[in-house]
Amino acid sequence: MKKIIAANWKMFKTSEETIQTLTELNTLTENIPLDNKEILIFPPFTSLEVAAKIVNNPYIFIGAQDLYPAKEGAFTGEISPTMILACGAKWVLTGHSERRHIIKEDNALVGQKTIFALASGLNVVACIGETLEQREEGNLYDVLAEQLQQTLAKLPTPLSPERLVIAYEPVWAIGTGKTASTEDIIEAHTIIRELLKNILGVSAMQTRILYGGSVKPENAHEILSLDNVDGLLVGGASLKADSFAKIISA
Ligand code: PEP
Repeated sequence: MKKIIAANWKMFKTSEETIQTLTELNTLTENIPLDNKEILIFPPFTSLEVAAKIVNNPYIFIGAQDLYPAKEGAFTGEISPTMILACGAKWVLTGHSERRHIIKEDNALVGQKTIFALASGLNVVACIGETLEQREEGNLYDVLAEQLQQTLAKLPTPLSPERLVIAYEPVWAIGTGKTASTEDIIEAHTIIRELLKNILGVSAMQTRILYGGSVKPENAHEILSLDNVDGLLVGGASLKADSFAKIISA
């Protein structure tokens, strides 16, 4: 299974800044052996097309940070999978914690987006994770189970396992500088693998589970070497090409 190193740029970078960062990344990754990795970059919608054109490394793919689950229609401000694919992007994020907690997306909508994206031909990184309050109340298992069940209900079949990736991102570790401990990561990823076995059957073993939450060049290697960690989803530390290149080569 190829490890995935993904960059979530959130609401950062104009198209010009995208060109600058990806030009640097093209150069920095020239000599990094990437045949065992897939690198995903999730820029804002306004940079998707230019990002897909500028990237010249066959192991780097572009994705959108969100989608609306309809082909087209009267949905002001929204973007469809057809439009994302037409920009040259192949991936999409669903259920990022900033969308769940700031934009108030619920599990049902995250599920609809995940299913619609997959059925439309996009590959999906579906994000799940608990808040600090949920963790402290002992609800880690229940929160992850609920999010996974609703996200993966009614998956299109057949679905090849490399098209659906789960990202475990504890909300309290995103953008806070607080990385989860190795024990926390192993515990959550083991729970997720077990839940996936119940939901997906045999393909659960080939479904990649990423960790996200304050990953940096200094901790990337250790986290990547943990059991059931099949890659990383990186926010802040992916914005500078040199820092992201270090994480890619970790
Ligand atoms: C993210 O945005 O998915 C993320 C993990 O952010 P950060 O790395 O900044 O915590």
